[in-house]
Amino acid sequence: MQKGTNAMKAVLFDLDGVIYEGNRAISGAAEAIDWFRSQGIPHLFVTNTSSRPRSALAEKLARFGLQIPPQSILAPPVVAARWLKKNIKGQVALFVPETTRQEFTGLPLLPGNAESGAAAVVIGYLGKGWDFATLNRAFRLLMAEPRPQLIALGMSRYWQTAEGLTLDVAPFVVALENASGLQALVLGKPAAPFFEAALEQLGAKPSAACMVGDDIQVDIGAAQTLGLRGILVRTGKYRPTDLEQGIEPAAVLDSVADLPAWWQKQQAAGEWSD
Ligand SMILES: [Mg+2]
Repeated sequence: MQKGTNAMKAVLFDLDGVIYEGNRAISGAAEAIDWFRSQGIPHLFVTNTSSRPRSALAEKLARFGLQIPPQSILAPPVVAARWLKKNIKGQVALFVPETTRQEFTGLPLLPGNAESGAAAVVIGYLGKGWDFATLNRAFRLLMAEPRPQLIALGMSRYWQTAEGLTLDVAPFVVALENASGLQALVLGKPAAPFFEAALEQLGAKPSAACMVGDDIQVDIGAAQTLGLRGILVRTGKYRPTDLEQGIEPAAVLDSVADLPAWWQKQQAAGEWSD
């Protein structure tokens, strides 16, 4: 254990609420990302977004002046598609927006009106696309024999939109778990396999990585359970009461813009050692 050596080698950035918020970049986010790039510090953008594919996320970020290639973004549809190809034989029922379907190319998909015959039922973000008939169709698919695998594209409970806090994926998954008696396999934050896939892509150990997020549970709590350092930002869905839940982030920053300075301070103080 040699104090003073910098053992911090990788950063995972959440996107929504950290890098951008609605239709604008968080002030200073571009400069912060540029700094990590200039230092050659491996980083990956890990988002629970399933409302659009990575290509559309990259285009959105480019409109904010943020050049982030799709392969630098890890999202639940990507991890789920890999898992399905490996583990599921049979048709997949997708509850994701039309554009997100491109991440599942190559998988046999169940016709949109079928109420049985799914080997897996994948629940992503439908937002206002959810209605009783849609939720009930997912339920009927889950009740049909043989029972399919229920897959959750992350378990984010809510997120911040221009209109206010908004239901995300988890509440719908929990409703379906409750009715069907099945338990979802979670292939997004806060599940360990998602963080493990991200660290594997960067070639980093958990103890050598930071997770920067605006969600005290899904980003910070989950990452810290796995041995990463969680850095909470006071943007996006952050509320002061988040810090009263018994989860203590390694740092709380006003925004991602403060991250390079914090990083350098930790480094200079010899806070990180092998
Ligand atoms: Mg977020």
